[in-house]
Amino acid sequence: MALFVDWSVVEIGDLCEDFLFFMSLVLLQISNILKSRFFTNALCFLYVFYIALETTSYIAISTNFTSSYMFLLIESNQRELSEFVSSYINFKIILFLILMGISFLIIKKIKFENKNFVKQGLGIFIFLGIIAALKFTGLIEKNAYYNTVRGVYGYFDLQNSVNFNSKLSKEDIKVSSNNEVLVFVLGESTTRRHMQLYGYSRETTPLLNSIEDRLFVYDNVISTDVFTLKVVPKMITSLDETNTRTTVTSLVQVFNNAGFKTFWLANQRPISYHDNAINKIASYCYDHKFYNYKDDVYTNILDEVVLSDYSEILKEPGKKVIFIKLLGTHFNYSKRYPKSFAKFLSDEKSNKEDKLTNQYDNAVLYNDFIVYTLIKELENTNTKSTLLYLSDHGENVYHEGTDFFGRNEQRLTKSMFEIPFFVWTSKTFDFPEAFQYQRKRAFMTDHIYESVSHLLGVKHKDMDFTRSIFSKNFKKRKRIIVNGIDFDNSF
Ligand SMILES: [Zn+2]
Repeated sequence: MALFVDWSVVEIGDLCEDFLFFMSLVLLQISNILKSRFFTNALCFLYVFYIALETTSYIAISTNFTSSYMFLLIESNQRELSEFVSSYINFKIILFLILMGISFLIIKKIKFENKNFVKQGLGIFIFLGIIAALKFTGLIEKNAYYNTVRGVYGYFDLQNSVNFNSKLSKEDIKVSSNNEVLVFVLGESTTRRHMQLYGYSRETTPLLNSIEDRLFVYDNVISTDVFTLKVVPKMITSLDETNTRTTVTSLVQVFNNAGFKTFWLANQRPISYHDNAINKIASYCYDHKFYNYKDDVYTNILDEVVLSDYSEILKEPGKKVIFIKLLGTHFNYSKRYPKSFAKFLSDEKSNKEDKLTNQYDNAVLYNDFIVYTLIKELENTNTKSTLLYLSDHGENVYHEGTDFFGRNEQRLTKSMFEIPFFVWTSKTFDFPEAFQYQRKRAFMTDHIYESVSHLLGVKHKDMDFTRSIFSKNFKKRKRIIVNGIDFDNSF
């Protein structure tokens, strides 16, 4: 490990934990409780694999193997996962894994002999003592196996924690406008820092800039979390960062009962169709479509895949709400845009950081084209309509002197939360009561639920419109993000 890892990123606590974990396994071995060869080998494998997990994670993302890392792995679908792995596999990691394989074969041969029953008993006693000590000191949080279990448990716990309100009825909802169409565009991994619309030095959003005077642009909106599966349910349901286990109402249900036809178009694959909270929300729509089912073959489905169905839906008569979940600027950045959008180019002299930044900016440029096209098509319908665009969360692309890209709950950066948020309205749009535009309003996306309803002039009886970013009665609040951090005081 010493040869491979940048020691400045290794935590002392993790080293202590590694040592104690090692001791506990040796003790278990010496105590001879199971004498079979198989048990000895299994224990040895367990240890070698453990070292491999931790070290590769230090090499790849400069941090310990945590439960949030595990969460990220489960959250990704197979295609994203292979892109993720391919981006992190490098020479160091391969060499390290080979060495670990060899050391497994060597350690496996060492024989521990111990026929003294008193010593055996003592061994087991100390083993249990070490495990208890790990638990009580909190050092167990550093253990890769512990984190694997915790990450998997956390994932399923989250998915099962959302129970939808089944008693919603038309009587609970008041509609006070004649608006006809809402398009809710949910971007992916796009930080506003890379958007020209927000002052980025590169021309990454020329089309949106050309219609800037038609947009209500907000420049102090943040996400609650850095993972899609944690963020999206809080956005489009009554769930917010304060209540985690409760019966919730989703925007889809609200609009269904307010007389809108609801649609869900997603250029993302349902991870496991029935368990995932986002897919559950989508399934309440009148019609929903996921474009990424066969993703092992079509490894780079571009966001334009949603456009033809979008046009068809817009032609249908009647009031409607269309949710569009893009793949946006999700890693692998280089696969998010067609060649014609490769405007920022790298050469042989570019390092990894420059290359990825260029790719990311090209993906932002393509995203500009997609969102602009969605707006123009909507404008052509000549209806009382509005389109709202925001990203689920941001992305760290080597910002603030960091040496990594992506998202990680253990190494939070400001840009993982700073998202674009703007609204386009048609000339005939029927603005709701108490509408007010304040560009600099400090807002967090768990109150999108109330804001979008307010914008459309649709109100469920339990909604509090002082949460709406569009309201002149908007109440400012503390913005508490993941891990209980106060965003405005911490960054
Ligand atoms: Zn996401």
